[in-house]
Amino acid sequence: MNTTINYNALFSTIAHEVETTLSPGKVADYIPELSKVNPDKFGVYLTALNQTHFEFGDANEKFSIQSISKVLALVLAYKIEGENLWNRVGVEPSETPFNSFVQLENNNGIPRNPLINSGALVISDILVSHLKNPKKDFLTFVRSLSNNKKLNYSSRIAESEKATSFRNAALINLMKSFGNIKNDIHVVMDFYFYLCSLEITCKELSEIFLFLANYGENPFTKERIISTSKSKRINAIMQLCGFYDEAGEFSFKVGLPGKSGVGGGIVAIHPGKYSIAVWSPELNKKGNSKKGFKFLELFTTETQASIF
Ligand code: GLN
Repeated sequence: MNTTINYNALFSTIAHEVETTLSPGKVADYIPELSKVNPDKFGVYLTALNQTHFEFGDANEKFSIQSISKVLALVLAYKIEGENLWNRVGVEPSETPFNSFVQLENNNGIPRNPLINSGALVISDILVSHLKNPKKDFLTFVRSLSNNKKLNYSSRIAESEKATSFRNAALINLMKSFGNIKNDIHVVMDFYFYLCSLEITCKELSEIFLFLANYGENPFTKERIISTSKSKRINAIMQLCGFYDEAGEFSFKVGLPGKSGVGGGIVAIHPGKYSIAVWSPELNKKGNSKKGFKFLELFTTETQASIF
């Protein structure tokens, strides 16, 4: 980290600018339980590899991780399945919304990448095939990366999503028809909805993702989570696919690999330096946190540090 910068003061200046200049976004409501969140929440937490940290606002308040968990599911599936994984899912940006169908039929049920819904459903299918008790084992994996061993799912959110899961059901049925889903679709969807329902704070999120800034090794425990090469590839996929049809815009304006979720969270990685998590529930038209995105753009601009 740049020792001449007062990060706490910078967070507060940028947060103020974001609060006062942006028009409101829209909280996700296609999952009914998500619409109950207070739209004005705003939190930021940065954990540096030298284990200094900086925070602002509601950084210790829990929110719904949603699609950010797709990265953690990918890490676990990649660990288990190795390079065979790429026979079932691609690594190309989608340029379409997170729950889109348009490319899936043309690509014979092979999703463009693991960070859109179809891709994460295939990853979930792979984990269901390999894990004895998928929900429990995934939670154990995430807890092993976190300093909070009590992290948990929200069955309230998972069940709410299940009750309105029309698009995800259609995606998984289409892939099943192409033979790219091996298990019972209801079992896979149930697992997927629980992954998305994980409740997490900005602090926890930035700590959990820090191994991807540390080339695959957990900086707290020194345990190797994935190889350096796999860590590079996960970051590359986040860079190209982490924001769906806004991935280019995020690269262009923020310049870090990252991942968003419709709960309003964004996590971004600066390899060799830090992991930062931002939460603001109001989303832009592409389903990414409006204020979170702008905050990160101003942060990498002001600090003049990105991967480029
Ligand atoms: N659980 C959400 C869904 O499947 C995740 C979407 C997201 O965060 N972009 O629709």
